[in-house]
Amino acid sequence: MTYDSNNVFAKILRGDIPAPKIHEDEHSIAINDINPRAPVHALVIPRGAYTDIADFTARASDAEIVGLMRAVGKVARDAGLDAGGYRVITNCGTNGGQEVPHLHFHVLGGRKIGRMVE
Ligand code: AMP
Repeated sequence: MTYDSNNVFAKILRGDIPAPKIHEDEHSIAINDINPRAPVHALVIPRGAYTDIADFTARASDAEIVGLMRAVGKVARDAGLDAGGYRVITNCGTNGGQEVPHLHFHVLGGRKIGRMVE
């Protein structure tokens, strides 16, 4: 998949669309999902232009991969999810149901998240 720099997360990363950040570091940002499916529904987004997990793991540097994974854990911890548990999801491509073609991890918690696959 070719990276489309007009996707909504690219616009948020550029500052073209405002979105309050709940986490920011050298490699990633995190925001709250605009259409939350759980009491906590954060999105952790790499700053780099990667379409999905396949693209990211093929092209990103080790530092970017470590940075993004650390951010996922920190966002969950900061949201107080460690005790009750939570789910981390990344959708990839058509069969994965990916809507925004810029890699992101969903961090969902605050209630029992339910079946892994409907
Ligand atoms: P996915 O289906 O994995 O690509 O998920 C894309 C997610 O981005 C959906 O859960 C949307 O609700 C969310 N989303 C789309 N636009 C925005 C936005 N402007 N700010 C925050 N979340 C958004």
